[in-house]
Amino acid sequence: MRSLPQALAMLFRVLQAQLSALWLCLAPFSCRLRGALLPGRSPPLLEEGAGEPDGAEVPTVPTSVNYHFTRQCNYRCGFCFHTAKTSFVLPLEEARRGLAMLKEAGMEKINFSGGEPFLQERGEFVGKLVQFCKQELKLPSVSIVSNGSMIRERWFKRYGEYLDILAVSCDSFDEEVNVLIGRGQGNKNHIENLQRLRKWCRDYAVAFKLNSVINRFNVDEDMNEQIEALNPVRWKVFQCLLIEGENTGEDALREAEKFIISDEDFERFLDRHREISCLVPESNQKMRDSYLILDEYMRFLNCRNGRKEPSKSILDVGVEHAIKFSGFDEKMFLNRGGKYVWSKADMKLEW
Ligand code: SF4
Repeated sequence: MRSLPQALAMLFRVLQAQLSALWLCLAPFSCRLRGALLPGRSPPLLEEGAGEPDGAEVPTVPTSVNYHFTRQCNYRCGFCFHTAKTSFVLPLEEARRGLAMLKEAGMEKINFSGGEPFLQERGEFVGKLVQFCKQELKLPSVSIVSNGSMIRERWFKRYGEYLDILAVSCDSFDEEVNVLIGRGQGNKNHIENLQRLRKWCRDYAVAFKLNSVINRFNVDEDMNEQIEALNPVRWKVFQCLLIEGENTGEDALREAEKFIISDEDFERFLDRHREISCLVPESNQKMRDSYLILDEYMRFLNCRNGRKEPSKSILDVGVEHAIKFSGFDEKMFLNRGGKYVWSKADMKLEW
């Protein structure tokens, strides 16, 4: 025989389980009802012109985010897939607010990209963001992708300690090919600059990474010797990609068709460099949906349909809502090795 308190406790547990099950069934209807009655407070389930949400019930966590805070660049690469369509850059405080929101939503790695990140206030803007993300938000990984042409040693002195990885773009070790591609600026030699940056990364304890876009002009090159000498922690090798509205199509600022290579050509390039253990290949398919990309307004860009379709800004609707329209495929992100040792503290490098 149970005592009265025991019987009441049991009854309470049974009722609680029943109510929870009922709530799970009703939750989606409740959300819709709330959306209809309070449109300003509850975001709609679909929004015009922003693509379809992923349909995932579990909110996507923005573990690793690429924030292209500027579209302006001092180079003119013929295949550029994030072109200077606006000159907008968020005020520093707004950018910081968005980054704090992303951290709150689970961000562990931020990558600042462009355009050219060091163009804005001669690197001070990106320096302040890097410092904020490491010092205030305590993100495990803070990185920058740059063409490297505007970075000075004083930047490393001031901000190097807060930066985990510097990725520099280099598509060829033949200066003439760099000029053909559009990676060049008057008399400045892209390759000599690369050597300088490599040294500063060592001197100021920043992990050095290389990014190369394989296209019609460099697909036959043998880069083994130079890559071994530079000894990057990671060499990202991208297959040149067409993006409607960026480097192909009527409203695009580039015509990248002449740079495109076949999958077989890309495989041949990879095969020629198979001895390089830090090489990470990225085919077109992997690039389309395995990145979380934020544009200059902090809108996620969905690349699944071959063009960049923006969500609303996270600053207006929050991360959890905006990310539904990002087109991000978490499985593809993990498959392409998107999660790796990305804190310099864990890399055990000999600086
Ligand atoms: S350096 Fe990068 S952002 Fe600048 S034009 Fe070249 S590809 Fe575009």
